[in-house]
Amino acid sequence: MGVMRTLLLADVVVTMDAHGHIYRDAGVLLEDGRIVEVAPRARFADTEADRLDLGQRLLMPGLINAHTHTPMTLFRGLAEGYSLLTLEGWFNGIRVWEMAMTPEMIPPAVSVSCAEMIRTGTTCFADQYFHMEHIAPTVRAAGMRAALAYGIVEVGDDHAHNWALGAAESFLASLRDDGQLSGWIGPHALFVDNRLPTIQAELALADAYAAGLHIHLSTSGEEDAYCLRHYGVTAVQQMKRIGALDRRIIAAHCLTIPEADLATLAAAPFTAILAPSACMRAGRPAAPLKRMLAEGVRVALGTDNVTANNSYDLFKEMQILGKLMAYREGEPNPIPAKTIVEMVTTRAAEAIGLADRIGSLEAGKRADLIALDLDAPGFAPRNAQDVYTALVYAVSGLAVTDVMCDGRWLMRDGRLLTIDYRAACEALEAAFDELRARRARLTAESPGR
Ligand SMILES: [Zn+2]
Repeated sequence: MGVMRTLLLADVVVTMDAHGHIYRDAGVLLEDGRIVEVAPRARFADTEADRLDLGQRLLMPGLINAHTHTPMTLFRGLAEGYSLLTLEGWFNGIRVWEMAMTPEMIPPAVSVSCAEMIRTGTTCFADQYFHMEHIAPTVRAAGMRAALAYGIVEVGDDHAHNWALGAAESFLASLRDDGQLSGWIGPHALFVDNRLPTIQAELALADAYAAGLHIHLSTSGEEDAYCLRHYGVTAVQQMKRIGALDRRIIAAHCLTIPEADLATLAAAPFTAILAPSACMRAGRPAAPLKRMLAEGVRVALGTDNVTANNSYDLFKEMQILGKLMAYREGEPNPIPAKTIVEMVTTRAAEAIGLADRIGSLEAGKRADLIALDLDAPGFAPRNAQDVYTALVYAVSGLAVTDVMCDGRWLMRDGRLLTIDYRAACEALEAAFDELRARRARLTAESPGR
């Protein structure tokens, strides 16, 4: 005895397991943060456990946001009118603010980011940013799971670059054997702002720590133009040549990958992370998702930063993806709703190397799960509507009532348990005021900026 067993009961359980099991009136039995069994309620008649009957709720795996930059909540609203998916737009819309940012401004921004993700049903995310050592403690305190990529932007300055590599290495060392947070390496974009020796140093570091790479790829064709000019091949072929496709890699956007390169990506441990809101807001074309799936390329979904999105709600993101693909292909439902839900659960878990731990509700996995209120607008009529269609097109993240990560409640009945949201928002407002004042001082000192 002494083992903590909890039986969660709910009206609907969407497992996302390999068989696509959906149960009506069912239970999820948990023990020490691990799922022991998922089955109809009758199966648990004699089970000894603390019972929590959630009633009119839908239980499903916690969602996974496969591409974020959590400190950038600090800049939400500041880059309107800039395309952040071009080097020039990113520099003028974001980089000028980043130069005025201090590490002290990061924790409140990350806190608000985590709170918004939890509130809308996300339990895990893949983040990419510099100053990652100032991000990790806040994520840990929020109780979320995360793949944290130490951002490295080369500014053509060897000293700054060597400093960034050293900081990235210390960060990776600090997360060795960590069950909650995993360390990744985040070259902002290969070729565009990282030179070959830089990329090679990053690959060596990834190998030394068995870390994955989290990059941006193919938002505007800049990499292909650069690689064709310098190496005579496309960016994907150059990545293959230098060994960048030999290890786990997730790449945000992938809007303009030449179709002939899709087979190369399908053969690699590579996942394309689509973030349609940010791309649509930047006026960029839609990724060829239908073709990618047909070619066997792995895909998952992310929100990208909320300066460009401007929301962390993955339910909204799923809906936008489905509608965008129908619009792109000129046909209804070119991507099945179930596939879109997989892109924030099982497929996303596989992308970040956690498929054996999270992504579905089944025996042996960690207890990362969320509950949605079946009385929220959009679920009726429940006997007619396919549940995946409801999740993608009819409801929003505000239907989420309860969130558990690794067996710990992060939200119960709509109340956040690990973050004081109002205090975090007030700290973010203060950080923003300081940011604006610093930017004004910097601009006054060098008016050309
Ligand atoms: Zn991004």
